[in-house]
Amino acid sequence: MRTEVLVRLAAGLRGSVVAADDAGFDEARRVWNGTIDKRPALIVFCEGTPDVVEAVNYARAHDLGVAVRSAGHHVAGSAVLDGGMVIDVSRMREVRVDAATGRVRVDGGATIGDVDRATQVDGLAVPLGVVSETGVAGLTLAGGYGWMRRKHGLSCDNVLAAELVTAAGRELRVDAQDHPDLFWALRGGGWDLGVVTALEYQAHPVGPDVYLPFLTYPLSEGREVLANLGEFAASAPREFGSLAVCWTFPEADVFPEELWGEPFIGVAGPYVGDAAEGERFCAGLRELGTVLTDLGGVVPWVEAQQFFDEDYPRGRRYYWKSANLDHLGPEVAGSLVDLAYGRPSQLTSLDLWINGGAISDVPETATPLGNRSAPYLIGIEANWDDPAQDRANVAWARAAAAELGAHSTVGGYLNFDDLGDPESIRFTHGSNADRLAGVKDTYDPSNLFRSRGAGS
Ligand SMILES: Cc1cc2nc3c(=O)[nH]c(=O)nc-3n(C[C@H](O)[C@H](O)[C@H](O)COP(=O)(O)OP(=O)(O)OC[C@H]3O[C@@H](n4cnc5c(N)ncnc54)[C@H](O)[C@@H]3O)c2cc1C
Repeated sequence: MRTEVLVRLAAGLRGSVVAADDAGFDEARRVWNGTIDKRPALIVFCEGTPDVVEAVNYARAHDLGVAVRSAGHHVAGSAVLDGGMVIDVSRMREVRVDAATGRVRVDGGATIGDVDRATQVDGLAVPLGVVSETGVAGLTLAGGYGWMRRKHGLSCDNVLAAELVTAAGRELRVDAQDHPDLFWALRGGGWDLGVVTALEYQAHPVGPDVYLPFLTYPLSEGREVLANLGEFAASAPREFGSLAVCWTFPEADVFPEELWGEPFIGVAGPYVGDAAEGERFCAGLRELGTVLTDLGGVVPWVEAQQFFDEDYPRGRRYYWKSANLDHLGPEVAGSLVDLAYGRPSQLTSLDLWINGGAISDVPETATPLGNRSAPYLIGIEANWDDPAQDRANVAWARAAAAELGAHSTVGGYLNFDDLGDPESIRFTHGSNADRLAGVKDTYDPSNLFRSRGAGS
């Protein structure tokens, strides 16, 4: 039986509300990571900014902590929280493109796929992530690494303005002129400052076709492949945005059967420029080691953006960590290869993002993301299906983070983090941490928005 106040909240919404004893609660509280089992008090599905204002005012009046959910992709399940209110914006997904200026306005619940489909009509793309089902808001507010990162920077570097509802229930539009402190904070330190109802981005001409290299080499040659890749990338144009992956050949028809179950190191990810030029340049990747498979080809940009989609099904078990690396010397490469051999699950991967380029053009203090000079970011992704393997997988990821973190003087990336350690949050923002805390105190002094403390 619903209380009178809850009935009043529901009546004031275009969307809907699901409480802990309602039918459908278990489905409504679920996020992408199958290990997450949090029980919010209320989940409000918003269908527009007025719904968001209603929800925020209700949470404040009833002293409920709030987490915002767009696609629910964060590995720590930070889009949901025990005992509080989830403000779900996943029904707010409109994308509007101004083809003349390349300005793109995206609702706070849109996914990367929503944006790609809308922008490619005009031959444009916004720098976002590499799996099309990820939410643009969570991605952008904490950074945003994708195939375009070396050419056009991180997602947050391409934000021109944002609309949000603050803890006080006020609707604000922020940009470099209006509320510049909040605009600064949202671009990389942006969770828990309000509910972002829309982001405006600068898009760039891309495609419609791009060259997508995808080569694999034996993991036993991993040290040499990584050394050669480091050299190759050092002189690569900014259009080269591939990453290296240590993984295991799945039982998929595209790979020869004799390779199924074998560990490999691969290089994949589209060249963000002319397709023919990309094909010519990426031919050099064949010299990195003994090529086991070469499945590169020219594909539409939207297809390149879905390259990894099927490897990350909703409901699988995941635990991730990360480290920025300031070099890829023999010791680091050796650690990466040994850790890859020790993965407890064949689904688990180590992903090496080659950075630099436009990412490090942005001064360290221009956004809350410190450590922009790091040339590499390593994603440590424990992925598995059997709950009995939870402990082994989490232990492996933690050990990998400790080992690789010993080579890192420059933090990690909160979008690839279990959020279990408040120190790693500070480390990520580097010298910007205190300024970011000041913006939080100004706009949310009673800490209504609490998703950062909602790690798994
Ligand atoms: C399969 C997969 C692939 C990925 N690939 C990449 C990649 O290529 N590059 C990359 O950089 N990252 C990548 N990530 C990490 C991704 O950036 C984070 O998981 C990100 O937080 C997802 O955003 P979301 O909106 O889906 O998350 P959610 O889980 O919905 O939210 C994450 C956090 O953002 C906050 N938040 C969400 N929406 C809003 C909003 N509208 N207003 C205010 N706060 C909000 C939430 O409160 C929460 O704390 C990937 C993740 C997955 C699962």
